[in-house]
Amino acid sequence: MFKKILVANRGEIALRIQRACRELGIRAVMVYSEADREAKYVKLAEEAVCIGPAPSALSYLNMPAIISAAEVTDAEAIHPGYGFLSENADFAERVEKSGFQFIGPTPESIRIMGDKVSAKQAMIKAGVPCVPGSEGALPDDPIAMKRIARAVGYPVIIKAAGGGGGRGMRVVHTEAALVNAVQLTKAEAGAAFNNPAVYLEKFLQNPRHIEIQVLADKHRNAVYLGERDCSMQRRHQKVIEEAPAPGILRKNIERVGERCVAACKKIGYRGAGTFEFLYENGEFYFIEMNTRVQVEHPVTEMVTGIDIVKTQIMVAAGEKLPFTQRQIELRGHAIECRINAEDPYNFMPSPGRITTWHAPGGPGVRVDSHVYNNYFVPPNYDSMIGKIIAHGDTREQALARMRTALAEMVVEGIKCNIPLHRELVVDAKFMAGGTNIHYLEEWLGHHKR
Ligand code: ADP
Repeated sequence: MFKKILVANRGEIALRIQRACRELGIRAVMVYSEADREAKYVKLAEEAVCIGPAPSALSYLNMPAIISAAEVTDAEAIHPGYGFLSENADFAERVEKSGFQFIGPTPESIRIMGDKVSAKQAMIKAGVPCVPGSEGALPDDPIAMKRIARAVGYPVIIKAAGGGGGRGMRVVHTEAALVNAVQLTKAEAGAAFNNPAVYLEKFLQNPRHIEIQVLADKHRNAVYLGERDCSMQRRHQKVIEEAPAPGILRKNIERVGERCVAACKKIGYRGAGTFEFLYENGEFYFIEMNTRVQVEHPVTEMVTGIDIVKTQIMVAAGEKLPFTQRQIELRGHAIECRINAEDPYNFMPSPGRITTWHAPGGPGVRVDSHVYNNYFVPPNYDSMIGKIIAHGDTREQALARMRTALAEMVVEGIKCNIPLHRELVVDAKFMAGGTNIHYLEEWLGHHKR
């Protein structure tokens, strides 16, 4: 096992990784930008290194600074968390070339999954169900393009191979609009992602977002840890997540879960990963794979009892997965609400000093956050400042606990989205379960203030 790991991230996930290291008896070196000097995990750290000024480009995305921090502290491995450099194949490669273990998949796996065209091709080969669409990138020839779209059937969606974060996509309803839409998307993709390649797939009208968590080791063992439902989204950003997904038959989850495990073995995947699917009319359609730990990993931890971050570290150190698929059991239900420093209704970021932070507790309630009384939320980063996770024997109990937790929580000094969550957890349709990916935006449209 490693003696020392460098945590190349900030915020709640940096604290989460520090906690996993403590539990494993590993020293965690924390890095921080000048804006994060006062962070809780920096204060708690045995060792911490400043890697640059506040802007991420100069600190959390600064590869040489991070690698030198690992060198000067004699760390053996680097945990990238999520966001920032976590899905950057060049970073993973530089980490390994510098003699450190990257806590994640191989640069090769990251590269394949980072390009949506090659990811989809790999998934089709591995037998994972995908959205019907073009085989590979779209040709430039308008006639060939139209032939493909006609075969798939309108509406279609044009997506950039290098896209991410909900950008680089365009829905097309008629053949008349196709060629122009493809050209526009290509131009945008070239400018935004430095890769003009686009592909086409069927546009699903009212899907749910269901994802499968996997863990794999370096010995070709892989398991899936059930699913998460992340359909409650605004602008493709997840707001509430839960496990398991309400109303989906176990045998259907098992079928797709087994395909994901087979795909991991086929591509030599290692570490934690998530296969994201759209789910409509009882069918799963792969959209992309995330090759890192995700924000919403705690709901899976709560229902499986498996520590995903600890397992990431163990398999990176070369250990075998400590459980087999048959030993994984799902117990109860878990729901996560993301706490963002923003106006709950117009979503304007609200950085600044938190004068009161009173976190909830009690049975089945977990709070993952680096925030404390008098903490200053810097304006430079993502607005998520923590997560409340509630677990119960049933979905009803998890929801009841979440309602109590949200009622107890006090955040003063900045605006945050707790008032919105309080309304959502008593919404009849959300309480019934199974809302689709458009539900939250529609709800917001009806609840304008
Ligand atoms: P990104 O990497 O930018 O997040 P994804 O491929 O994961 O891109 O897609 C993001 C979102 O776009 C999905 O969650 C879904 O809301 C929508 N989307 C993507 N592909 C389709 C599709 N074929 N049909 C309908 N919606 C889609």
